[in-house]
Amino acid sequence: MSGVVAIKTDDLILEKLLYSLSSIQHRGQDSAGLVLSDGSSLNRIKGSGLVNEVFKEANIYDKDYKIGIGHVRSSREGCQQDYNIEPLVSFTKNNEFALAHDGNLSNYDLIKETLENEGTSFHTHTDSELILLLISRYYDGDIIKAIRKTMDIIKGAYSCVVTMPNKIIAFRDYQGFRPLMLGEDEENLIIASENAAIEILDIENYRNVNPGEIIVIDDDGLKSYPDKDRINKNHCIFEDVYIARPDANIENINSYMFRRRCGEILYRQAPIEADLVCPVPDSGTPSAIGFAQESGIPFAEGLVKNRYMGRSFIKPSQKERDLAVRLKLNPQKSVVNGKRIVLVDDSIVRGTTSAKLIKRMRKAGAKEVHFRVTSPPFMYPCYYGVDTPDRSNLIAARLSIEEIRKQIGADSLEFIDLDSMLKLVENPDDYCKACFTGNYPVKKDEI
Ligand code: SF4
Repeated sequence: MSGVVAIKTDDLILEKLLYSLSSIQHRGQDSAGLVLSDGSSLNRIKGSGLVNEVFKEANIYDKDYKIGIGHVRSSREGCQQDYNIEPLVSFTKNNEFALAHDGNLSNYDLIKETLENEGTSFHTHTDSELILLLISRYYDGDIIKAIRKTMDIIKGAYSCVVTMPNKIIAFRDYQGFRPLMLGEDEENLIIASENAAIEILDIENYRNVNPGEIIVIDDDGLKSYPDKDRINKNHCIFEDVYIARPDANIENINSYMFRRRCGEILYRQAPIEADLVCPVPDSGTPSAIGFAQESGIPFAEGLVKNRYMGRSFIKPSQKERDLAVRLKLNPQKSVVNGKRIVLVDDSIVRGTTSAKLIKRMRKAGAKEVHFRVTSPPFMYPCYYGVDTPDRSNLIAARLSIEEIRKQIGADSLEFIDLDSMLKLVENPDDYCKACFTGNYPVKKDEI
C-alpha cells in the first residue's frame, strides 16, 4: 500500500508536500520520498521511516522549487531495500522523470520477463520501475502519448504521479482501483491519494481523478485528457472498509459514515445481547459506534491503542505483526472485567490478530467475547495493491465461519453480508470485491 502526492505552488512547496504526505501516512509507514524540481533538474530525498523521520534534516530549503511529488510506502516482505523507495527517477537522453505509484500491476511479472529476455535490466523489485521505464522509453516529446502507450500495456491498479523538470502529471488506471484526487485554489494545484492531503492545505475544492484520466499541470495551468471509452470502474471497496482515513470522501462516499452504517447493518443482521460494544481501534471505531447506536448497547473503549505504532495488518513478517499487536493494543481491564463484550473489527485476514485480541480480552476478565466483522470473509488475495497473503494464509479460504469462530476463540462470530454492505454505495457494479468473491475484474498475469 502507498500514498502519492504532487503539488504545484508558488511558495513553501517543501512544507506543503510534507504536510500532505503526513496526512496520508496511514497508507504507508516503512519509507517516504519526494522529488522537487527547480525548473531544470530533479532533486530527490528519500529514506526509511515515517515522513517526519525521513525529512527531519531536509537540506533543500534554500532553492526555488515550484513543483514536486512525494510518496509514502509500506513494503512487502523482501522488498524493504533502499533502492525500492519511491519516487523512482529516470534520466534519458533529453529528459528527466520521477514517478510515485500507488497500486499493483497484475501483469508485471509477465512484462518484466519479456523485457528481461530482450536484455533489459531492472534495478528495483517494484512494478513502479516498469511504469517509469515504459514512459521514458515511449517519450519522444509528447508525454500524453508516452503515458497512453504505457497504459495500453500495463494492467491492474495504478494511481501515479510523475514529475518532469517543468511539469507534473497524474494518471489513474481505467478501473480506478486506488483513489486519486485533484484539488485546487488560487495558489496551489495538488493531486493526492486522499482528500485529507488536500484539505490540510486549506483547499476545499477537490474532485476524483477519473479512471483513465491523465492530468498535466505546468506553467499554462491544468489540462485534463480523459479516455471515457475504456473506463471499466472497479473502485476498491476495501478502501472504505479499512484503508482510507475516516474523513476520506473517495468516489463521493464518506468512509466514516460508510463504516458507521456497516456497524448498524451488522447489528440488524445478527442481533446479540451484551453489556458493551468495543472497537478494535482505529478502523473498527466508527462501526462499533454504529453497532452501539443501533443496538442500544453502551459503547466503550475496551482496548487502548498505542498511537505511536503503525498498522499491524501491513507489517512485513508474522513475527513483526505479533509484536506490533501486543505493543499496539492493550485491553482495559477496568472496562471489560466481568462484561459480555461485542468486539467490532473491520476484517479478519489471517485470523492471528483476532485470536490474540480475544485471548487478551478474556485474560482481562471479559465474560464473553462476541466478534463482529464489518467486511465479508476475506477469501481471495488482492492483486491490486493491498498486500494480502496468499490464499493458504487467508483463514476464511480454509475454514467455515464456525471453524473460524472456534479457532479465534470467540463466543459468536458474524461477518457483514456483502449485498447489505454494497447497498451503502451508489452503484455496486462500480466496485471491486474480488477479495470476497474471487471475481477478479482484471486477471493476474494476463497481457
Ligand atoms: S481485491 Fe479487495 S482489496 Fe483488492 S482492490 Fe479488490 S476490493 Fe480492494
